Amino acid sequence: MISIDYQIVKRESKVELPEKLLFGRMFSDHMFEMDYDEAKGGWYKAAIKKYGPISVNPAAMALHYGQEIFEGLKAYIRDDGRVALFRPKKNMERMNNSAKRLIMPEFDGEFVLNAIKELISIDRDWIPRKPGHALYIRPMMMSTDPYLGVRPSETYKLIVILSPVGPYYPEGFKPVPIMATDKYVRAVRKGVGECKAAGNYAASLAAQKEAREQGFTQVLWLDAIEQKYIEEVGTMNMFVHFKDEVATPALSGSILPGVTRNSVIQILKDWGYNVTERKIAIQEVIEGYKSGRLMELFGSGTAAVISSIGRLKYGDILLQFSEEEAGELGRKLYKEITDIQYGRIEDRFGWITFID
Ligand SMILES: *Cc1c(COP(=O)(O)O)cnc(C)c1O
Repeated sequence: MISIDYQIVKRESKVELPEKLLFGRMFSDHMFEMDYDEAKGGWYKAAIKKYGPISVNPAAMALHYGQEIFEGLKAYIRDDGRVALFRPKKNMERMNNSAKRLIMPEFDGEFVLNAIKELISIDRDWIPRKPGHALYIRPMMMSTDPYLGVRPSETYKLIVILSPVGPYYPEGFKPVPIMATDKYVRAVRKGVGECKAAGNYAASLAAQKEAREQGFTQVLWLDAIEQKYIEEVGTMNMFVHFKDEVATPALSGSILPGVTRNSVIQILKDWGYNVTERKIAIQEVIEGYKSGRLMELFGSGTAAVISSIGRLKYGDILLQFSEEEAGELGRKLYKEITDIQYGRIEDRFGWITFID
């Protein structure tokens, strides 16, 4: 087992967070860094050190061929003052699954989770205390061999950085307009869609840009083969609330298995809803809208927790929901999950991990 080298920097003044925190623009004082080299027997040289630029060889393979993965989770200061993480083991597992798929080295999830806890303890003053605020945790792993041939790298860097973030919706829990597209696809079954692999996000930018230009905030992706079934929205999984059922696209290989998705499914089952994971044709959603069977649409993900859909455009068809008030079930789920995260209700599923 390797140990962590602590290179703590002392700050001259107290941490002062701005009134308005934008997502992912500000970083804490320290970061965690760990290196991997097959020739050295695996992971070595783990350190918590001053946050700052890293030195990378311009021939580093990640920069050329995208052998790079990441994760996203949050730390919350609860009403009782304790710092909590929400199901962090799931993120470690998922990152190791992504690593496996991209022929990157797996790591000891417990060791890295412990390093994350240490890092947060050290940068504890960076956790915003205001309601709805949190410290976003971004682990990533990149290949670093300076080599222009295409093959798995033999050296890697695993880095964790921290970013204080405000509520995803500063004006409150407002529904968002989304656009389904069949002009582009995000990921295909048997590809890397179920991994948080950097390249997936580069591939999604063109569709996102076009959606933005038309006044929509996110893209609703359809399956890559038939362009018939809904998959997910931006960096959120999708839920369709029908009168008699809450359906979410089954994990087919091209959909990211969201921790929030899994939590929503468990909560809904606990509440007695008929929850299904299955194929959902965009046509079924449209017909449900016309017949009145469709109640609401919402997305789930770490950043926004739950995002209610106010408007969905698909070709010439427009499904219009309230753009002022979020759907009832989405609102209820948002409250339930954030209440568990901030310790306002009992953690009945055992989802909370404390950092100290
Ligand atoms: C991260 C992500 C999600 C949501 O996953 P969570 O674990 O709930 O945050 C959904 N879809 C994509 C494409 C993602 O990158």
